[in-house]
Formats: sequence, structure tokens, C-alpha cells
Amino acid sequence: MTTTTPPSTFDTRLLALPLYDDHHRALARRLVTWCAEHRDLLAGDGRPEDVGRDILRALGDAGWLAFLDQGPDDHRALCLAREALAYHGDLADFAFSIQALAATPIRRFGTDDQRRRYLPGLAAGTLCGAFAVSEESAGSDVAAIGLDACETEAGWVLNGGKAWIANAGIADVYTVIARTGPGPGALGLSAFLVPATTPGLRVEPVPVIAPRAFGHLAFDDCPLPREALLGRRGAGFPIAMEVLDRFRMTVGAAALGFARRAADAALARARDRPMLGGKLFDLPTVRAAFADIEVKLDAAALLVARSAWETDQGGPRHARHSAVAKLYATEAAQEIVDRAVQIFGAAGLVRDSLLERLYRQIRSLRIYEGSSEVQQAVIAAAIDPNRTHRGAS
Ligand SMILES: Cc1cc2nc3c(=O)[nH]c(=O)nc-3n(C[C@H](O)[C@H](O)[C@H](O)COP(=O)(O)OP(=O)(O)OC[C@H]3O[C@@H](n4cnc5c(N)ncnc54)[C@H](O)[C@@H]3O)c2cc1C
Repeated sequence: MTTTTPPSTFDTRLLALPLYDDHHRALARRLVTWCAEHRDLLAGDGRPEDVGRDILRALGDAGWLAFLDQGPDDHRALCLAREALAYHGDLADFAFSIQALAATPIRRFGTDDQRRRYLPGLAAGTLCGAFAVSEESAGSDVAAIGLDACETEAGWVLNGGKAWIANAGIADVYTVIARTGPGPGALGLSAFLVPATTPGLRVEPVPVIAPRAFGHLAFDDCPLPREALLGRRGAGFPIAMEVLDRFRMTVGAAALGFARRAADAALARARDRPMLGGKLFDLPTVRAAFADIEVKLDAAALLVARSAWETDQGGPRHARHSAVAKLYATEAAQEIVDRAVQIFGAAGLVRDSLLERLYRQIRSLRIYEGSSEVQQAVIAAAIDPNRTHRGAS
């Protein structure tokens, strides 16, 4: 067993643990090489919507999305990919993760026809997907979804809106959770596949602190054929929850990638910057900061690895461990990036510098796919199963 991955991007000592197999170690090495070869593309210069599509094509061409069409679920591989891509570029992680999020419900719940229609293109990066659950009045509380799907003779008609949707505007197909039964409540929700060309579907772009394709969706008498229903009628809530449970630990993995990048940059700076006749790194408080960073990186990486490993084994506690990994890794990453900015001093605040970008990019991870407070509620409910948590995104 060899682990010759360069020291940055991944922690090779952690990859050597039995939580990973040899094919994961080989994958990590290939990811590092590919990211280095595509450094300019992953740096993300240009209109984020265009860069996002270009990266998606490159990921598809390289076969990094092939698992969306063929191949078993491999959450350790998914986490390694997110960690590497986040280390090298926010938009690369974004393009990869949203595509996987959009394709997974089709993989797991789609009919043969739906799978044949969408998965090859999503895996090739020629089709772009999005996963639309949240609404302005239903973010954490998925059961409060109000987008109305009314059954007609020909199929369905959608009316209402979705909010804060990644890839809004560039997606070719949206996996949408809508209300098909009496509400409010989790039981009356169903999933639909909505092509972006559907009449009556409108995108309102929303600018955010880390620029990307992002926005609200308005559905105005959007007609859908019967076969647009994904999974069975009434299964929208469990479909959304299962996908989010599986993806939470991957958000932790992305957080780890951002945090490692900030920590590496801060360490290089502290070793190089002259200070009081020595180097910044010689100061006891700075050394202590790096010790704290090291502990947090190790803890986050181990929690992500445990969660991904357990999910791959079909372990009964994977949802709880996924929540633990997301909560810890995203909170720790925010602290690490903040510490790194502090170590850089004023240079860490220069617009569009690496640290300033990381500072903006890390923030949303504590909110999307279940905020930190929602993860706390999920974990607490698992500790005390008699008081179940209703579930939230
Ligand atoms: C960058 C980004 C990308 C996103 N991409 C997508 C996407 O592709 N698809 C999609 O559907 N959505 C997406 N979202 C939306 C995201 O899932 C929601 O923002 C998130 O679920 C929180 O919902 P909210 O913003 O409405 O906040 P709210 O639900 O209003 O929460 C506000 C505050 O209340 C707290 N809170 C809520 N419930 C509880 C609870 N039970 N216990 C304790 N505290 C609680 C929250 O932690 C938070 O601090 C994205 C968001 C961001 C920022």
C-alpha cells in the first residue's frame, strides 16, 4: 500500500487508515494530479455561470461524474472528490456536488426511462442538474413546502416557487419537491423532474457573497407529463431526506478542503513572514493557533471518514454520523479560515485574495443542506429517539 499523495490537499496518514481501501488511495492520487493539471480552470476566473458549466464539462470528460450513471454508491470516494475539488476551487466543488445531488434521486428512485433519459448526460457533464427543495417559507422545515402540484388528465400542473437553488439558470433539469396532497405535512409531498424548458418556469438570479449560478424559481401553470413524477406519489419527503442524509457528510468533506487550503496558506505565510527578529511562526500564540488548527483538521477528517465509511457499509447510525460530521467539520472550517485570515493580518482582507475568497466561500456550508442548528436537532433526536426530529434540510 503506497500513499504518495503530496502532503497538501489530503492527509496521507489519514488515508492510510483501514477506513479507506486501496482504490480510494489511488483515487486521491488521481484527483490531486487532475486538479493540478486543471489549476487555471479551477481557479474560476470568469463569469461564475460559464465557469461552472466549463468545469462540469471537464469533470464529465475526465470521468469524475461517471459514477452518476454507472457504478456503486461510494461515499468515501464522493467525500475525497469534494475535499480535493474544494481545496482547489469553490466552483469546482459546487459543480461536482450539485450535479451529484441532482442525479442521486434519479439514480435511486427513477424509472428505467427516467434513468436512461437523464443519467448519461449528467454523468458526461453535458446536462446540468439542480435539486430544488427549499422555499422562502420552507427552508429548514421541509414539511412546510407549499409549491402546488395539481393532478390533471394529462399529468400535473405546478404553481408556486422555490428559493435559494444552486445551478438555477444553468440547469437543464430540476428535481423538484412539490405538494401533491393536503398540507401542511411531510406526507403530501412528491418529487418531479422538471426540464428547464418547461413553459411557465422562470428563474430569478440571486447574487451571493461567493458568486455562483444561484436563484429562485417561479412556477406559473407549469405543465408536466405523468412520467415527470419521480418515485411514488407521496414519497417526496423521504426522497429529499434520504438524499440529504447521504450528502451531509460530503459537505463536511468540502469544508475540510477549504480549511486545509486556508491552513496551508497560513502556514506558508507564518514561516515566511519576518517578525521580531525571527518568523511569525516562532511566536507562541501563533504556534498555539496552528496546534488548534491541526487538532480541528484531524477531528473533522476522522468524523467525515467514519461517516462515509459507515454509510458505505449500510450502517444503522449513518444519518446521525453524517450530521455529526457536517456539524463539526463546517463549524471547525469556519474557525480555521478565520484564524488563517488573522495570521495573514491586513493581507488576508484584500479583495479577491485567496484568504478573502475562502472567508466568503466557507460561510454557506453552515447553512445549506441543514444548518448547524438543524444538525444539532438531528443529533439530539438520535440520542433521545423517543422525541423524534421531524426532519429538515
Ligand atoms: C449557498 C447555498 C446553496 C443552496 N442550495 C440549495 C439547493 O440547491 N436546493 C435547495 O433546495 N436549497 C438550497 N439552499 C437553501 C438551504 O437549504 C436553506 O438555506 C437552508 O435549509 C436553511 O433554510 P432557510 O435559509 O430558509 O433558513 P431558516 O429555515 O429560516 O432558518 C433560519 C434560522 O433558524 C434556525 N433553525 C431552523 N430550524 C431550526 C430547528 N429545528 N432548530 C433550531 N434552529 C433552527 C436555522 O438554523 C437558522 O439559523 C442553499 C442555500 C445556500 C446558502
